[in-house]
Amino acid sequence: MLVSQMTMTEFDEMLEKTRTAVVPLGSTEEHGKHLPLDTDTMQVFHTAMMASQHIPFFVCPPLHYGYCRSTRDHPGTISISPGTVRSLVKDLGHSLYSQGIRGIVFLSGHAGKGHMAAIEEAAQELVDELDVVVAVECEYHWAAEAGAGGLVETEDDGHAGEIETSRIMALDPGLVKGSSPEEYPDFPTPLIEREKLTAWPGGVWGDPSKATPRKGVALYEATAHKLVELVTRIEAKIAGKG
Ligand SMILES: [Zn+2]
Repeated sequence: MLVSQMTMTEFDEMLEKTRTAVVPLGSTEEHGKHLPLDTDTMQVFHTAMMASQHIPFFVCPPLHYGYCRSTRDHPGTISISPGTVRSLVKDLGHSLYSQGIRGIVFLSGHAGKGHMAAIEEAAQELVDELDVVVAVECEYHWAAEAGAGGLVETEDDGHAGEIETSRIMALDPGLVKGSSPEEYPDFPTPLIEREKLTAWPGGVWGDPSKATPRKGVALYEATAHKLVELVTRIEAKIAGKG
């Protein structure tokens, strides 16, 4: 159930049914010329809402900002620092715990390595400090994994490519404004590039032209299923059965 629409009475009553909360972590980040800046948040939030139709858990209001390094110079990316990500995860974890929550999933729609590392560091501190079960997962990786069986045609698909375009089409085709050319970033690894736009002008990793709403629906079914499995596992662990 969606925390933002609950009353305090409903929140209290819900604790009888579940002690697990999912915190969807998104970003405000360029996704090519054709996808909304809120793409990561929309995807992870939709997965959480879909999964919550199958089993009860708290769906927290999503965080619409994350640490975006590779796309920081593209128009529209509004990034926060890894330290802020860590602090937010820590504070949310402590507050949820004080409200009776004993299992937390920090589920990120944004896949940046530095962003995920910041979430993991904070989650480690939470489990060291509190009697709480915490999971950190990148929801995009669930989608990529589900697409790898042949559903997604692009071999090296990533940011704003076939997967993400299909998933936004599935939510609302009107949110997709045309398309962007197939593109793969050219970062000079292991060197750290200062000029992000030089290495990645279009901000796309993959091929958006292969996207269809049908693929998006299938990917959401897979990601929602993964989240149901994870919450079930956490609830069992909280109950001492896991
Ligand atoms: Zn994305």
